Amino acid sequence: MNSHTNDLNQLDRERHLHPFTDYAAYRQSGGTLYTRGEGVFIYDENGHELLDGMSGLWCTNLGYSQPEIVQAITEQLERLPFYNSFFNCSNDAAAAMAGAVTDVMPAHINHVFFTNSGSEANDTNIRIVHRYFDLIGKPQKKLIISRENAYHGSTIAAASLGGMSDMHKQFTPLPYVHHVQQPYWYGADADLSPEEVGLAAAQSLADKIDALGADNVAAFIAEPVQGAGGVIIPPASYWPAVQRILDERDVLLISDEVICGFARTGQWFGCDTFGTHPDLITFAKGVTNGYQPLGGVGISDKITDVLTSRGGEFGHGFTYSGHPAACAAGVATIARYHALSTPRHVREDLGPYWAKKWAELADHAIVGEARTLGMLAAIELVRDKPSRSRLEPEHKAGLVCRGHAIENGLMVRAVRDSMISAAPLVCTHEEIDQLIERLRRALDATARHYGINTP
Ligand SMILES: *Cc1c(COP(=O)(O)O)cnc(C)c1O
Repeated sequence: MNSHTNDLNQLDRERHLHPFTDYAAYRQSGGTLYTRGEGVFIYDENGHELLDGMSGLWCTNLGYSQPEIVQAITEQLERLPFYNSFFNCSNDAAAAMAGAVTDVMPAHINHVFFTNSGSEANDTNIRIVHRYFDLIGKPQKKLIISRENAYHGSTIAAASLGGMSDMHKQFTPLPYVHHVQQPYWYGADADLSPEEVGLAAAQSLADKIDALGADNVAAFIAEPVQGAGGVIIPPASYWPAVQRILDERDVLLISDEVICGFARTGQWFGCDTFGTHPDLITFAKGVTNGYQPLGGVGISDKITDVLTSRGGEFGHGFTYSGHPAACAAGVATIARYHALSTPRHVREDLGPYWAKKWAELADHAIVGEARTLGMLAAIELVRDKPSRSRLEPEHKAGLVCRGHAIENGLMVRAVRDSMISAAPLVCTHEEIDQLIERLRRALDATARHYGINTP
């Protein structure tokens, strides 16, 4: 560690309150400064190399070496570093980005509202949905249904939409948001088939809408695959049943594609993979490859027709909605996804290879299940496979494994008793082999930690 980063590390520890961090622990033991990225690798202040199995925070889908995106941002900053899009103004980058992002969305989604983040985009969804039902004369349709263990961001509205009970304990969630079951097969009763778990979770949505009254329910928000909640890949029975339930009851679907969007599941959006027809699409993260903060909402023609034909001014927006540098990053990123045929590459080459290698982890002594979809993956850590009993009652095994992974040069994430990964969509097969090898070493060390023998 050189003295420069040493000083900065101390400054960070003493002055910087981080997101999702235990402050007492951080003050005591500190953290790690990352100072360089190259390809799919990140390097910390000591030069320690980590294969980035999380694509940053699910956002650097194309890794850390995309000069075209950097150049687009730089050129935009030199020419017009800022102008706003309030009161009939716009900028060329925002207009170009509106075209580029709606072009890759389903055919019935042709308008976009820009924000700076996924959280703000989900706040915007509520504003749009409430406005829409007011304008069509159904002002009582205001309730929003979400799911347990969902993650939709961290503003008051987005965290209310989320289903993280530990987060809800730290503020007062909005009263008009309700939650239903998640389609989590491995976490359900072991006697149930995946089909049954998917249908039961869908039925919990139908029951909730009927209990609240369909006339009062505006929308259902869901991630196609729950990401931060543990890469919960729904059984095949789930989404068709959910779409039917929503259609029958005139409830809008908000597809939160902040993680699933931009080829993560092997199509442009998760709704393309699962065949749903969302009225609103939340995007952020991979839209700029993480190089600039940008989020937004793709809005269906059904809703746009109402918003653009009645009601006057929509009283909502952010100073940086349609920020030129962020939009320039978005245009350049989408151009890279096109140039690399990223959705097809994930669907036909990288995803199948990843699925095959990841599935091999299931033979490890402490792996109860290994699942993937596109370039999303999770493993469930257990002490005993048939009973699915966990390694310890405190559910800290994931954190133990994450520590060993970092020691072995791999960044993955722990969610209670599972390890999750969302590797960059530009990994080579050799880099995937390397990721699996490092993860296997971390699993061996975790097994040893809990006194379990591995062959
Ligand atoms: C990260 C995330 C968000 C929040 O996005 P921010 O840019 O952090 O506000 C919303 N939804 C999902 C599914 C996410 O993964």
